[in-house]
Amino acid sequence: MMLYISLFSRYLRVKLLSGWDTVSENRIRSMLDAAMTAIPKTHPRYESLVLRERLVEGFRQGIVVPQGLIAHGRGEMFDYLLGERTTKESRAASRAAAALLLQAKHPVISVNGNVAVLCPDDVARLSILARARVEIGLFHRTDERVSKIQKLLQEHGARDVLGFLPDAAIPGLDHMRSLCSKDGVYSADVVLVPLEDGDRAEALVNMGKKTIAVDLNPMSRTARNATITIVDEVTRAMPELVRNVEDLADDPKAARLALSKYDRDENLEKIAEKMSDNLENFLER
Ligand code: ATP
Ligand code: MG
Repeated sequence: MMLYISLFSRYLRVKLLSGWDTVSENRIRSMLDAAMTAIPKTHPRYESLVLRERLVEGFRQGIVVPQGLIAHGRGEMFDYLLGERTTKESRAASRAAAALLLQAKHPVISVNGNVAVLCPDDVARLSILARARVEIGLFHRTDERVSKIQKLLQEHGARDVLGFLPDAAIPGLDHMRSLCSKDGVYSADVVLVPLEDGDRAEALVNMGKKTIAVDLNPMSRTARNATITIVDEVTRAMPELVRNVEDLADDPKAARLALSKYDRDENLEKIAEKMSDNLENFLER
């Protein structure tokens, strides 16, 4: 038995060095890599390291771009300051966001590569519960990336995913990032933009849309421009939003209350204070 294992692993190594060209071989390569980078559950940063692994795997599959990995790193820094947990303030923002989604006539969830890799199940579930269209919107757009993301989202249950054939443009934006679909983002009244580029978020607001952003940086333009900003890590924020939509779906009174109680700037200020307190406490230790 040991002989077989050793021969097989030698065969894999030779193949690895000589190059791979088929899908099944790629799969074996990624399994080998996964084994090499296996993260022990006892690691204090387990959750965070697993997210990194998922993004790296998404990068290997051509779904995540290198810039997306860097953006995640900037987010990790803010999550560190936040204490890597969902705060009372982000729960309140999430409830208001759920209420806004439920009130919308034509809600759309805009998905990029990082979101597709990090929370495809929640995107699909939320789109069904909130009757929202899903649209792929990429800063670094290629047809190949869009089609890979579309396939991934569909495998996780999302239906009628838009974005492959954009037929409209967001005014005021140059570059491919302005591309969108008439039936999706262009005609939406509420757009959920988890992890959106600041410029695009601003342009959507200028179109008169209400936007919901998920962004760990309470100071970013994205956070300061959205109608509602959930300052939380996206893999914690999305399931929380799903739960709130489920909870408020048949309680319009509670939904109205959640929305009326929410004040974006006050919410962001409290979170920034929390981050600053955490930093001070850490330095005092
Ligand atoms: P801008 O002021 O233009 O909005 P920005 O600081 O938001 O700039 P971007 O390049 O738009 O920078 O996006 C990176 C931001 O995305 C990070 O700072 C972080 O706040 C957010 N982000 C990245 N990954 C995550 C994540 N997994 N969950 C939540 N937020 C994230
Ligand atoms: Mg931003």
